[in-house]
This record gives sequence, structure tokens and C-alpha cells, in this order.
Amino acid sequence: MTEDYDTRKETEMTGATSTDLLDPAAFDAAVSPDYAALETALTAVLGARGVSSDPRQREKASVDGARMSPIIAEQLPLGVADLVAFPADADQIAETVRIAVAHGAAVTPRGKGTGNYGQAIPMPGGLVLDTSRARAVVEVGDGWITAEAGAPMAALELAARQQGQQLWMYPSTVHSTLGGFLSGGSGGTGSIAHGSNHEGFVVALDVVTPASAGELVHVEGENTLGFMHNYGTAGVIARATVRLEPLRDWRGLYASFDDFTGSMSVLQRLAALHPHPRLVSADDPHVSAQLPPDPAFPEGRSSLRTIIDASLVDEATAIITAAGGRIEDLREGPQVSAAISVLSYNHPIEWLQKSEPGVYFHVEVGGDALVDRHDEVMAVYPGAHLHIEATALKPIGMLAGVYESPEQVADGIATLTALGVGVHSPHQWNVDFRLPETVELARATDPYGHLNPGKLNPDYAGPVKGAIR
Ligand SMILES: Cc1cc2nc3c(=O)[nH]c(=O)nc-3n(C[C@H](O)[C@H](O)[C@H](O)COP(=O)(O)OP(=O)(O)OC[C@H]3O[C@@H](n4cnc5c(N)ncnc54)[C@H](O)[C@@H]3O)c2cc1C
Repeated sequence: MTEDYDTRKETEMTGATSTDLLDPAAFDAAVSPDYAALETALTAVLGARGVSSDPRQREKASVDGARMSPIIAEQLPLGVADLVAFPADADQIAETVRIAVAHGAAVTPRGKGTGNYGQAIPMPGGLVLDTSRARAVVEVGDGWITAEAGAPMAALELAARQQGQQLWMYPSTVHSTLGGFLSGGSGGTGSIAHGSNHEGFVVALDVVTPASAGELVHVEGENTLGFMHNYGTAGVIARATVRLEPLRDWRGLYASFDDFTGSMSVLQRLAALHPHPRLVSADDPHVSAQLPPDPAFPEGRSSLRTIIDASLVDEATAIITAAGGRIEDLREGPQVSAAISVLSYNHPIEWLQKSEPGVYFHVEVGGDALVDRHDEVMAVYPGAHLHIEATALKPIGMLAGVYESPEQVADGIATLTALGVGVHSPHQWNVDFRLPETVELARATDPYGHLNPGKLNPDYAGPVKGAIR
């Protein structure tokens, strides 16, 4: 089945418009791929180990971190792959997309599967394109690194470090993939200095789209934005070039305060130091107690952790102690950044959820009101706890509450918004970044909605990615 794209679509999808096909149910109804034929065609290109119809592999490829949301967890399973492909490099990723589209199959790209709101779930089934074998670091230059989409962020950082450089940023899920971070993530370690991952981090992308018919399309600069944080709905990233900077001599500074107010009082002051710390994170005493056991997290105290340039340790210590804090430890070595990073962003909430299963949900929050109107913010959800991060301008965080119902979560989001808190909801999987631009681009690159169906909803009007920064 290798007719050209338009001819095949005319015959297969008569009566279905591209708008209909943004809905997974419409996609499903319009297409009934022959998966046995698709498996044979993919095996010819990827080899027997490059394709799987094994039920365990298909199930494994169909879950992500969405269980963090009790609202999404109640709706699982939201879809199961019919087939999983494991292309080994960018060219094979392109060829996999071409063959899948030629067979009328939906294609849901997948990296490490750590996205935490269901955005990697193949809602109408179809093919999951798992990039984890396409993991080569292609080249390290002065100020940039090029890698295949499935390269783990930790491997990129290691390759950069071997040349005296470091990534501008990486997420707390350090083993997640480059393609997944650009398509599904936002920021992390390094974001105090460099902002979100769409703000200059990406130099160039090689993407494949249904319309590109197996060819890699090279985009640079502003044009990369069309493929950022939209879950592969406009194109599949096969290879990317992202920015590096000279390696710094980082220290891990662990502090604690009697209470959370103390930690919050120094958060943004530490972030304002130059050079900017790579990360400043803090938790209230209850969340601090759920972190993995470490003498640097004394019982009953609020933990604050920062990855800071060696030259600033004395200044940071002075800021912390003047505010009533205590230095618990100062660590050095190649692992200091990763050790503190894996306790940032969603991770403390994950530890909280592990220690009390089924109790907590969370929303992503941002703004000075987290500190300035702290008591009002904490009163929005019963039993609330807060993990907080510094950014260049204002704090962001993860607000956990005791889960009651979807309505309680939604009402709380409205109340938080009224308090001046920016909110991003991790309880929905709609593309929420540059939505009109993505819809427009996808009409050209993926007019029949093969890519990750169910995520690109032109009518989505809820909280957006940028709301918390
Ligand atoms: C505990 C926890 C902590 C987290 N911390 C952070 C954090 O600090 N910062 C942050 O930004 N995020 C964070 N996340 C979210 C997520 O882990 C990251 O965004 C991660 O980088 C996603 O990478 P992945 O390889 O796991 O992608 P996946 O989960 O596999 O995919 C994410 C999305 O991108 C799409 N996709 C995957 N690969 C491609 C590709 N090659 N081309 C096009 N689309 C693709 C998928 O279809 C999916 O929609 C966290 C999640 C959890 C559960």
C-alpha cells in the first residue's frame, strides 16, 4: 500500500474533513489500517527487533506519567497501541512515519514516557513510534549539541561536559529524551538563567511530517517553535540541535529553615545572584519529610536546595543564615547538579503521592502571590502542600491538595486565578501552547490528523503552558 499521500487519503477518508480528524474518534472511524501489513512493511526497514505487536510491549508503550493526576487516572486506559516501532536513527524515524501514514495508521511519538498528563497515550491506538533506540549524540560543537530525538538528556549533559560545556537546561526527569523534552516539557535545571525551553534553547530541528513523505525537514530559529510543546501533533522531531554554555564549577548547597516562610523569603534573592544558580528549590516541612532519606533534610524543617556557582557559596550562605536558615551540607563533584535536579519540579509531589497513595492531586502554579498571599493560596485546597522553584522573575511551584473531585480541582483553579496565581492544569492533554499556530501548521503538515490524534483540539480554552511563568 504505497500510493501517494493525497490519492490514498482521497480513497480512505472520503467524507472526513481534516477538522473531523482532530478528534480521535473521527480518526478511528475513518481509517482501518491493516496492522499485519504495516508490521511486515516496518520489519523490512527496521528489522525484526524494530517492530513489536507483543501485547506487553503495546501496553508498556501506551502509558506515561498520567497516573499523577487522579482525574486522568480515573479515565485510564485511554488507548492502547496496535503496534510499536523502534527506529534506530533519524532516517529510520522518517521512514517509519512515511510507512505508517501510507498504511493509514495514527502515529504517536514516544520518548521515555514520563510526560505527566497523558500526552503520550495513543488514544485511537495505531502505531507508537518509540524513539528510545535513536539515542546517538551526533556532534558537539562550540555552544551547541546535535543528537537524535531519543537521546537521554543526561547523555547530552555528559557529552557536553566531556568538552567543558553544559546544557542550557534539562528537566528533572534527567533520563527523559531530547525529543520528549522539546515536545512535551517546559524547563528545569538552568531555567533561572534561560527561561523555558522554547525561549532560544533550540537551534535547529529535523522533523518528519505526514506531508513530508519520508523526508526530514530542517527548521531553524523561530521556525522551530511550530514543533515545540505540541506533543508531536505538527511533526515528529527526529533530530535536534540545542544550546550549550561553558561548564561551571557547581556546588550543591543544602539548607533548612524552621518553617516554609523562611525558605520562601530567600528563594528569589538566591535566584537573582550572578551567575544565576542552576536551580533553587524548596519544600514545606511535610513535603521535605517525604523526600528520600538524607541527613541534609532534617525532620520537621523546610528544606531548601540550590545548585550554585562555587564563587557564590559564601554570599548564598550569608543570605540564608541572615534569614534564620541553617546550612546542612555543601556537596561537590560531577553528580551535584543531577542529585538536586531529581528532587525538583514534579518530583517532590511524586514522593508525596508515593508516601500517601491515592490522597493528593496537584496543579502547577506561578507568581508572587505564592509568597505574598501564601496563607490564602494554601487555603484554596484542603490539606494543601507546596513545592516551590525560583525563576528569574517570580516563583513557580506545584500545589498539592487532598483530592475530592474534578469540580473541586476546577473551582480551586478559578479561586487561585482570582488570587493572582498563574495555573497550568496537569489534568488534561490538549495542546495548550501556541494552539492557533499549531492548528494552522498541522493543517499543512498533517492535514488528516495522523499525528498523536486527540491532543490538538482547536476549541481548547483552558489554562495554558505559559500561565505559570
Ligand atoms: C516526576 C516528574 C518530574 C518532571 N519534571 C519535569 C521538569 O523538570 N521539567 C519539564 O519540562 N517536565 C517535567 N516533567 C514532564 C516530563 O518528564 C518531561 O517533559 C520529559 O522531558 C518528557 O520527556 P519524555 O522522553 O519522557 O517524553 P514522553 O513522555 O515520551 O513524550 C512527551 C510528549 O512528547 C511527544 N513526543 C515524544 N517524543 C517526540 C518526538 N521525537 N517528536 C515529537 N513528539 C514527541 C509525546 O507524544 C508526548 O506527547 C516531569 C514529569 C514527572 C512525572
